Amino acid sequence: MTEIIHYQNFIANAFVPSDPSIEVRNPANNQLLARVPEASGEQVEAAIAAARHAQKNWAARPAIERAGYLRKIASKVRDNAERLAHLITAEQGKVLGLARVEVNFTADYLDYMAEWARRLEGEVLTSDRVGENIFLLRKPLGVVAGILPWNFPFFLIARKMAPALVTGNTIVIKPSEETPINCFEFARLVAETDLPPGVFNVVSGTGATVGQRLTRHAGVDLISFTGSVDTGSRIMAAAAPNITKLNLELGGKAPAIVLADADLELAVKAVTASRVINTGQVCNCAERVYVERKVADQFIEQMAASMAATRYGDPLAEGDLDMGPLINQAALDKVAQMVRTATGQGAEVVTGGAVADKGAGFHYQPTVLAGCGSDMAIMRQEIFGPVLPIQIVEDLDEAIALANDSEYGLTSSVYTRSLSAAMRASNELDFGETYINRENFEAMQGFHAGARKSGIGGADGKHGLYEYTHTHVVYIQI
Ligand code: NAD
Repeated sequence: MTEIIHYQNFIANAFVPSDPSIEVRNPANNQLLARVPEASGEQVEAAIAAARHAQKNWAARPAIERAGYLRKIASKVRDNAERLAHLITAEQGKVLGLARVEVNFTADYLDYMAEWARRLEGEVLTSDRVGENIFLLRKPLGVVAGILPWNFPFFLIARKMAPALVTGNTIVIKPSEETPINCFEFARLVAETDLPPGVFNVVSGTGATVGQRLTRHAGVDLISFTGSVDTGSRIMAAAAPNITKLNLELGGKAPAIVLADADLELAVKAVTASRVINTGQVCNCAERVYVERKVADQFIEQMAASMAATRYGDPLAEGDLDMGPLINQAALDKVAQMVRTATGQGAEVVTGGAVADKGAGFHYQPTVLAGCGSDMAIMRQEIFGPVLPIQIVEDLDEAIALANDSEYGLTSSVYTRSLSAAMRASNELDFGETYINRENFEAMQGFHAGARKSGIGGADGKHGLYEYTHTHVVYIQI
């Protein structure tokens, strides 16, 4: 029998004995993998206190020294890449190839943010007065609470920790209760470095307990949250009494617009990848398609063939696959219910359309739905599964209007050979990101941010880095 590991919270560089009451299971077969703690109120207090205690000295170090720790951690991540990828696949369900990409991208991200150490800049402003200098300084906020989702759990640690630490903040991370193992393994690697105690801490538990304690706490200076719109909204309410600064990366309902002059082969490949990668559980991937009538039949036929060819199942047991399971039973039930509702409203199942008969895991068939309309829930709500609803449009104007008519505004994509159509769509689509003729994945030097309910603030690049600072303007009259 496999040994069940009991993980412990990581506070001030020590693994603290805790009651391991949360079970973590493999979504591909529902087997128990580990038990992790539900951190107590005292442990959350201790983690925030450790981060507060460490922060001043940490910020006082030269940025290049802080960056050196990020590089050390990146190197340890690379040394353990294969082991970490297997752990991520086991607890999250993504295929091994994607887990490897996630681990390597995480190491690259730590290195990338470390590079900013010599590029952090303030400003010198022109004064209205004789003999006065005005300096705009950028300073760390203090203690960051990083609250993570389960879909890219390992990368999200770095996306929050790296900009926080290089700018002089300290951090307390709460992983998702679905995928905490990789975060504790990351903490083990941190513990092998000489990172000062309290700079990086992990407390595990549910959102209703540990998440709420962190977000209501007056000792937290920034809540950096990635997750659903509903939770984001609850976190805003929890942060309100203390006016705690927020950085919210929330859900998406990315439209993909396929015009009649598109390279259909490319569009089919990219949109399939969008729905298959991580089993469709990606905030920025295509969740609804608007295809121009002239090419609709051809596109739908090719999409159906492409989705039907997806090899899916248990990634660790079955080897080379395109897609694993959904994260849990609730996710499976939600996707199945959304498809049932859509077909009840007149959508046509072109391929898939049912829970897959694959043992105890949470597998859903890769699915294409044609004949969808803009009033259907499947075209308006986040599916977060391998299901693609398609709506036919008459032209680009209609596609843009429908795409913008959404409470989400994270990413969008357009497939066309016309430069003017691409430019017009870029100008008129009201989203944080638009991808033209390419897959929906952002670059670490870009700025990943959503309009409307998709979030407040953003991540990555220079603009993401400065989310972890506040400005301090100093007027010096000489
Ligand atoms: P979720 O909102 O259910 O949970 C995210 C985290 O919030 C978990 O750690 C959870 O424990 C915690 N949480 C739950 N309730 C809380 C509360 N009241 N107070 C504080 N913390 C609380 O989201 P999820 O299901 O883990 O992730 C999927 C969602 O994340 C999708 O909507 C997806 O689009 C979104 N997402 C967005 C991005 C982005 O960059 N915009 C990236 C990845 C995922």
